[in-house]
Amino acid sequence: RRKWSRVVGVLKELEEACESSVGRLRQVVDAMAVEMHAGLASEGGSKLKMLLTFVDTLPNGSEKGTYYALDLGGTNFRVLRVQLGGQRSDIPKHDVKRQPIPQNLMTSTSRDLFDFIASSLQKFVESEGTSSELSPVRRRELGFTFSFPVKQTSVSSGILIKWTKAFAIEDMVGRDVADCLQQAMTNRGLDMRVAALVNDTVGTLALGHYHDVDTVAAVIIGTGTNACYLERTDAIIKCQGLLTTSGGMVVNMEWGNFWSSHLPRTSYDIDLDADSPNPNDQGFEKMISGMYLGDIVRRVILRMSQESDIFGPVSSNLSTRFIFKTPDMSKIHEDESPDLREVARIWKDILEIPDVPLKVRKLIVKVCDVVTRRAARLAAAGIVGILKKIGRDGSGGITGGRMRVSDSKMRRTVVAIEGSLYTSYSAFREYLNEAVDEILGEDIARHKAVKKKGWYPLRPGIQGFFITCDGG
Ligand code: ADP
Repeated sequence: RRKWSRVVGVLKELEEACESSVGRLRQVVDAMAVEMHAGLASEGGSKLKMLLTFVDTLPNGSEKGTYYALDLGGTNFRVLRVQLGGQRSDIPKHDVKRQPIPQNLMTSTSRDLFDFIASSLQKFVESEGTSSELSPVRRRELGFTFSFPVKQTSVSSGILIKWTKAFAIEDMVGRDVADCLQQAMTNRGLDMRVAALVNDTVGTLALGHYHDVDTVAAVIIGTGTNACYLERTDAIIKCQGLLTTSGGMVVNMEWGNFWSSHLPRTSYDIDLDADSPNPNDQGFEKMISGMYLGDIVRRVILRMSQESDIFGPVSSNLSTRFIFKTPDMSKIHEDESPDLREVARIWKDILEIPDVPLKVRKLIVKVCDVVTRRAARLAAAGIVGILKKIGRDGSGGITGGRMRVSDSKMRRTVVAIEGSLYTSYSAFREYLNEAVDEILGEDIARHKAVKKKGWYPLRPGIQGFFITCDGG
């Protein structure tokens, strides 16, 4: 007896627990906007930290010069040099070096990590030769993109609040991140100055704004997830008297830590959280981002295999955490062969479960679909939450009722989106786009076929217009 009905029961239960109707998504939208308010009202007022970035102006395409950047935060680490000519160009002249961060350095000491970074940077700088475009006397200035929660003390300094994702270097918490890098560079005799320390979402917002000045927010959905947006300084109540020339400041939401009772949570999420190094933390992130989606799927399938023998004897690999990865989910989603060959291959290669029957392959696709759909729809709700907070969702602001589109002042609004889940996982992207349309309603999501070169208009419309920033 294969107990297929029990497996179907597990699937049904999963689908119900992951339910994300428009009604529920709107509750998440409201909760996001409310938490944003609370996080801006007082320090510790919300699970959303709503961190000040000290970034009050964004590039607009007229920038000139050679800039260096360093990006640390996920699975890869990047060093980049870009030359801007003063006129916006789709792909400015640049060189990038990208390398994986050695696993052991993620949990080592700050000294080890930053020495690795500085040495990599040094090799990059040394390899650039004697380009005539670089003035030898000018000290190189570096922008440091660091995608963990930082309490900024200025635009170029800030203290690490905590680690997220796979990082855990105890001696770094509470220390100035830019200082650590500066020291490591000095130790290696590298003459560079950390001119800016920014969250990766702020980098994405800057890039979006460089290309399109209607960009007001940025979202990243990669290993982890986070968002930032441009806020009016007078709305940042916890920092009274904050004055900037532009009257605004970019706020790093740290939305990965968002939580609301309206989020559709399953027993698998609860177990995943309990097994993580940061339980009760980053709840939104654990339902949405690349580090976790594959493992949610694995947990569901493990449960199915315990209920039935359809996967053969309970495989030890199926009990191995993080063995099934999110990129495999997108491969499974993309498998259009009638007998789902790719699904069978992944199952055999990774989980060492051979000869999965077609019926079971279909089941696997379904589980991936349910988990990805929920993730993408929740991210969409988060995005609309930001639009609502800044009065760009067409509802007439957070306190007002729903207004007809023609009544409210419609402004073209661009949200820059980056990260592999959005850029490389088409099912995820489509679910997200669709949900934004559903939540905002057809009147606002009205289609206006504008497509910029190399830019993907997620939701072209009168008010909401999304683009992706392929950071490269
Ligand atoms: P970062 O590590 O800086 O966040 P990315 O945005 O590239 O960089 O995100 C990498 C994460 O995205 C990986 O952890 C992986 O889980 C996931 N990922 C990478 N490629 C794909 C893909 N094709 N489909 C789905 N998820 C992917």
